[in-house]
Amino acid sequence: MKHLLLIPFVILASSPRPGYSWGEEGHMMINRAAATKLPGDMPEFFRNAVDTLGFLAVQPDRWKSFDGTLYTIERANHYLDLEVLNRDFSKIELPPDRIEFISKLGEAGKKVHEAGLLPYQTLEYYQRLRGAFMEYRWALDDPEGKDSRAPRTFGSLNSIESVCVHYAGILGHYAGDSSQPLHSTILYDGRDKNGEPQKTGVHIRFEVFYVNKHIPDGNVFDGLIGKPELLGNILEASKDILIASNKDVDQLLTFDEKGRLEGADKEVIDFTKRHMARGSQYLLNLWYTAWVRSGEDLDAYRIRFKPKAKK
Ligand SMILES: [Zn+2]
Repeated sequence: MKHLLLIPFVILASSPRPGYSWGEEGHMMINRAAATKLPGDMPEFFRNAVDTLGFLAVQPDRWKSFDGTLYTIERANHYLDLEVLNRDFSKIELPPDRIEFISKLGEAGKKVHEAGLLPYQTLEYYQRLRGAFMEYRWALDDPEGKDSRAPRTFGSLNSIESVCVHYAGILGHYAGDSSQPLHSTILYDGRDKNGEPQKTGVHIRFEVFYVNKHIPDGNVFDGLIGKPELLGNILEASKDILIASNKDVDQLLTFDEKGRLEGADKEVIDFTKRHMARGSQYLLNLWYTAWVRSGEDLDAYRIRFKPKAKK
């Protein structure tokens, strides 16, 4: 924790950052691509939920337009500007939870919106999903509620399934944001000649205009998404993908500065697909890990709900 936030921070322009992430088309594609790669050992209802998982991918960006209060808190959940924490990314240590992270930021004299909260939003939705999968496994195992799982309070199997799909779809938005290079950097909307942050409009130019024009919906990530892999520490996995995204910030800004986001340039198209597919793979890994861990953690979870012996 001591390495957190050691550098002076350049206060950026006060106008809000662009809020589209990959754009609605991009987010939907990332979620759907992950959903079509689900392995056969995941539940059938989940593998059949491709449409809903795709639909839910766009919701967190829309939340920001529902109300000013929601906008203020929600927008911080979509990025982590790594340079704010430490220019040497190998020294960044993320505290275990959101509250401690915010408090460390405060101690370093920084505001939440300077850094962003993306790893914590990802972690918390992952935890919700793992919990919902535990409820599902329990309901399958004990449909009549003999083992303290009262169906009246836990709902029908359909209710539990819809909750799993809901958390998973929303989680997909943040997994997708993690693979967008401009969601990992203080240069989120461009840079000036000295490499300092400057709003050039590249953010929306890349993730919305470019993606909508050059990345067609369909099997565009074929060959780029493999089998799901089990993740270890979820916060570490989040940091890793953000660091990988940040490594390509310079390349992306150079594409833009040379006008290459204007045309159909194969190298830029491949670059974009690679990043979107990385978001899909990460999401697939998160879903799969939540499913596997829900099986490992179920017994301990059930014990917490055991009815106390009547006196
Ligand atoms: Zn977003």
